[in-house]
Amino acid sequence: MPTDFDVVVVGGGAAGIAAAVGAAQTGATVCVIEQYGFLGGAATNSSVLTHCGFFDQTGTQVVAGVGQQVLDRLDERNLYHTQTIAETGNTVVLLDLETTKSVYDRVLREAGVTLLLHSRLVSATTDADRVTEVEVVHRGGHRRITAKAFVDCSGDGVLIAEAGAEMLLSEPDERQACTLVMRAGDVAADADLSQEGMAAAVDKYRAATGHTLVRDSGIAVRMPVSREIMLLLADQHRDVLDVDELTEAELRARELSWRYLDAFRRFLPGWENAYLASTGPQIGIREARRLAGRDTVRAEDVSAGRRREHDAIARCGWPMEKHVAPGVTEYGGIRDKGWYHIPHGAICSASTDNLWAGGRLVSSDNAAYASLRVMGTSFATGHACGVAAAAYAGTGEHDYFAVRRELDRQKALI
Ligand SMILES: Cc1cc2nc3c(=O)[nH]c(=O)nc-3n(C[C@H](O)[C@H](O)[C@H](O)COP(=O)(O)OP(=O)(O)OC[C@H]3O[C@@H](n4cnc5c(N)ncnc54)[C@H](O)[C@@H]3O)c2cc1C
Repeated sequence: MPTDFDVVVVGGGAAGIAAAVGAAQTGATVCVIEQYGFLGGAATNSSVLTHCGFFDQTGTQVVAGVGQQVLDRLDERNLYHTQTIAETGNTVVLLDLETTKSVYDRVLREAGVTLLLHSRLVSATTDADRVTEVEVVHRGGHRRITAKAFVDCSGDGVLIAEAGAEMLLSEPDERQACTLVMRAGDVAADADLSQEGMAAAVDKYRAATGHTLVRDSGIAVRMPVSREIMLLLADQHRDVLDVDELTEAELRARELSWRYLDAFRRFLPGWENAYLASTGPQIGIREARRLAGRDTVRAEDVSAGRRREHDAIARCGWPMEKHVAPGVTEYGGIRDKGWYHIPHGAICSASTDNLWAGGRLVSSDNAAYASLRVMGTSFATGHACGVAAAAYAGTGEHDYFAVRRELDRQKALI
């Protein structure tokens, strides 16, 4: 196996997939390091089975490029389903979990990317202001991998931290809450999925058992293929970078999942035979570290729908959606329900010359982060990271215009 590449990408979620494919499509040699045995990130490791951010709130598509390649593969299997929420105008792409894993495998394989599954990044070596090597641990031992350019798409900023790159990190109580997403099977076709129905059931459960659940209601979506219901209810607000806190979050959220199931089976019409089909394999983490970039997206850029002439690399059309505490979400819109640009500098490390970060690591303030972290946008920012890293691997230069030309060639929407 080769151990030297033009570009190494850490993490195989939406951003990492797009980074790897985008880089490989320039002709670069690319390696993706993923700690689980499958690709997909939060979609497949936390059952977050709705892609937000492909469309703005007017219904205009704002992400294409590698993201579009994924949508096309879903379409080939007749599994490209969208749903628009009437009250907000938000359009999501509904996913089937196993189809999604298989589509991602295919998109990566077709691009000729080297993939290391069950491989966890544990350390990085730097020389002056550059990363030179990363170390991964796998079932059989350790492997050291060198590259000219590195992209952190780990969601948690593992490479940023290991490389000692500058980062942004809010205090634990200012970060967004986590949720252990539940999937429930055998829920009747006409079952009550309404917020009011859930709240009434949780209230009756409290009266009957004395147990107060963390939130009264949450998102309930019926998934394609399995017809299971995806439920976002079991919230925990803890420091996910502290192993004791994260362990406690998993245990408490799992216990909560069973309580919600019990409440709905007893008090929500159509849920009498429901069972807990799945949780995890890990609690959904909304926020940990972020890159400190050469530029930073701010709340005012989002609300103004700011367009950029000379440094744009992606569009984001998802409004600010901040889960400030269990069951408490703050919203903030984009001007005219449209989209704003994400700048090149927000994916380039301020301190480490050959390091980029995409997806939920893009340099942003807390409020802007609540908008650009979604998966559709992660495809777009990951794609730009991959193309930028590959361009740098070829020339040793940061050349925005070369990146832009290549993103246009790869049909990204900018
Ligand atoms: C509960 C919840 C609900 C959400 N709802 C939605 C929604 O409905 N729609 C939407 O679009 N977004 C939603 N989001 C946000 C979205 O899921 C994430 O922001 C998005 O997945 C970010 O993509 P990413 O590729 O940056 O990171 P991730 O999807 O987190 O992927 C990171 C990848 O890196 C891997 N990794 C991490 N550390 C290492 C390591 N040390 N070594 C190797 N690999 C590593 C992980 O295993 C993972 O595969 C939700 C998030 C949560 C938590």
